[in-house]
Amino acid sequence: LSKLQTNYMGRQVFSYDEVTSTNTVAKQLADEGKEEGTLIVSDKQIQGKGRRGRYWESPKGSGIFMTVILKPKMKPVYASMLTLVAALALNDAITDLTGLEAKIKWPNDVVVNKKKVAGILTELSAEVDYINYIVVGIGVNVSMKDFPEELKDKATSLLLESGKSIGRAQLIAKTMEYLECYYERFLKTHDLSELKETYSKVLINKDQVVRILTEDDSYTGVARGITDEGHLIVEKDNHDLVEVYSGEVSVRGL
Ligand code: ATP
Repeated sequence: LSKLQTNYMGRQVFSYDEVTSTNTVAKQLADEGKEEGTLIVSDKQIQGKGRRGRYWESPKGSGIFMTVILKPKMKPVYASMLTLVAALALNDAITDLTGLEAKIKWPNDVVVNKKKVAGILTELSAEVDYINYIVVGIGVNVSMKDFPEELKDKATSLLLESGKSIGRAQLIAKTMEYLECYYERFLKTHDLSELKETYSKVLINKDQVVRILTEDDSYTGVARGITDEGHLIVEKDNHDLVEVYSGEVSVRGL
């Protein structure tokens, strides 16, 4: 990352051939007191993680598997917004380097041609009143040519979509640059008021039908954008507007 143009994001890098997951290593390093912006990168993950105990397919050499440590001085309830900040940074970096029209599937995935090319998994260490640290895990399918059967319909890679080989170091550096920029803007207000317009422009769910599944409810509506807190605004069939902030949204046809 010699040409990295950041003040602190990705300035200190720990790189590995193989880890259980980069988030797991990042949490250990953060517990040891590593500073904000520290980046963990691995060539492969044995137990790549998705949200809610799901997995992230992480074969050797064909993806980016990395985690950055953040230490925002704020209450833990606001931590989930960092997922959206990171998704925006990743989306912009991918668009810049590939020329592909990348979009965000709220809250945490980057999709190209309706298939997932990248995902974010943030994890939090906090006390009641303050955050110790947040680890922001980022997985990108860079040069996979093939996926396991169950992912074939929903996953793709930058190589498959663009036909180009994208340099991993370059994409990591670009993501760090956008992340530092968006993170700084986020810290000014501790919400997404400055970023939500940019986010909504690349939101694949915008004006699309979404099905919201929570633990005890399921309904459909049309996604309209996000709030300052990063909640998805959904217009229900009866035109009521609801804010979705937990549970899960899946987009028809994705
Ligand atoms: P979904 O987008 O499927 O509704 P999610 O956003 O909650 O789920 P994530 O945590 O973002 O899920 O990602 C985990 C899921 O992504 C896995 O269950 C699997 O279906 C899919 N997946 C796993 N590895 C990859 C990969 N390398 N690229 C794209 N998708 C993957």
